[in-house]
Amino acid sequence: METILSIKNLSKRYGSVQALKDISFEIKKGHVYGILGPNGSGKSTTLGIVLNVVNKTSGEYSWFDGKMETHEALKKVGAIIERPNFYPYMTAQENLRLVCKIKDISYAKVMEKLQLVGLDDRKDSKFSTFSLGMKQRLAIASALLNDPEILILDEPTNGLDPQGIHQIRDIIKQIASQGTTILLASHLLDEVEKVCTHVLVLRKGLVLYSGSVHGMSSNEGFFELKAEDTANLIQVLKTHPALESIKQEEGKVFVYLKSPLEAAALNKFLCEKNINLSHLVKRKHSLEEQFLELTKNAKPTLKN
Ligand code: ADP
Ligand code: MG
Repeated sequence: METILSIKNLSKRYGSVQALKDISFEIKKGHVYGILGPNGSGKSTTLGIVLNVVNKTSGEYSWFDGKMETHEALKKVGAIIERPNFYPYMTAQENLRLVCKIKDISYAKVMEKLQLVGLDDRKDSKFSTFSLGMKQRLAIASALLNDPEILILDEPTNGLDPQGIHQIRDIIKQIASQGTTILLASHLLDEVEKVCTHVLVLRKGLVLYSGSVHGMSSNEGFFELKAEDTANLIQVLKTHPALESIKQEEGKVFVYLKSPLEAAALNKFLCEKNINLSHLVKRKHSLEEQFLELTKNAKPTLKN
């Protein structure tokens, strides 16, 4: 699969502040990537470096398999990393036409992109009359005028009302469905969960997790069990090949798995060893629980 962006061992210091520590990841064509982390974790710094507006301290990054110089490559990148800013007294259409003129893009793109972000019926309204959500949608339309390979968004729904948030997320999903690769930074777990296929979790400039969004929550899960003879239950469980670890809490036995195992199969296995369960539930951690677990733990745990 084609690599759009490759980042290797990137670090950034602002004076005494270590904003990024040795981060590495790859962006492949056609996926939607999220950089997820609390405020100050280094998301905007990462985007700034690859967009050539912040200087890295050490490490490497390369666009499009290193086949192009950064300034050439950036012509194929659409990015919104600041609050959208257009001429307030000009209409949506006039503003986008101006961008076309500057970037030498056909005017035909203006209506196409206004339609994509649902602003075609407001094309003749002045920018100054737009809500924040509409301004953000106009910025997305503007970034897409030259049909970029990748769209980069920094906290795309910050400050928007629920309806505005919903509209932006729908638009991002639609853009992705047309094959545009997307990289977005967000401190909102549910945003990343709803919109992204892949995620890089950052905390204080360190990568805590990188991989699929699905992979972050779809560990094999765990069982909650109860039986009369807890000691015997644990003894027998330890002989099962799918078992990762066992924890005992509040009279229950928690069984964590390293490979798939259904409740019925576990029950049968225990029955055959003469253990009758009085309680059997299979559970999974939600993505939120996984995220909180990850970010409270100071030790980085890399996983792919
Ligand atoms: P995020 O986007 O995840 O909120 P940032 O990348 O903006 O995080 O910031 C990461 C860290 O770097 C923070 O500690 C922030 O205070 C610091 N930082 C960011 N920009 C600058 C700057 N221009 N000068 C000094 N420190 C900065
Ligand atoms: Mg930021």
